[in-house]
Amino acid sequence: MAKCTCEPAEIMLFPCAGGSNVGQLANQAAVKLDQEGAGKLFCLAGLGGHVQSIVESTKVARRIVAIDGCPIGCAKATVEHAGFLVTDYVMVTRLGIQKNHEFAWTGEELDRVVQAVKESLES
Ligand code: SF4
Repeated sequence: MAKCTCEPAEIMLFPCAGGSNVGQLANQAAVKLDQEGAGKLFCLAGLGGHVQSIVESTKVARRIVAIDGCPIGCAKATVEHAGFLVTDYVMVTRLGIQKNHEFAWTGEELDRVVQAVKESLES
């Protein structure tokens, strides 16, 4: 059986990674936060599918961060459906970024999402 490389971490990041600029921006922000060591990008699809290794790893987390693109709130709903509490929540459209289907964003918009997650984690 394939082994997942998703080892547990204290701060786990679950972006919605949805099919829009804001969904992909949520994902890209999580990538950047992971690369900076601010948390670990984790597998929302595995959590939603109740994949045992992903669920077990998530139990170890001290902070569970959901980053949603828009008010439909898929990442938060998926985390909660798996039985976990979202401790930190960021929604990209709440940061003044409008949803579209162009899959493009500026560096400043990416920084805005990254910063919002960092501010939440500081509280
Ligand atoms: S929260 Fe919005 S952008 Fe993200 S997956 Fe759901 S509908 Fe798509």
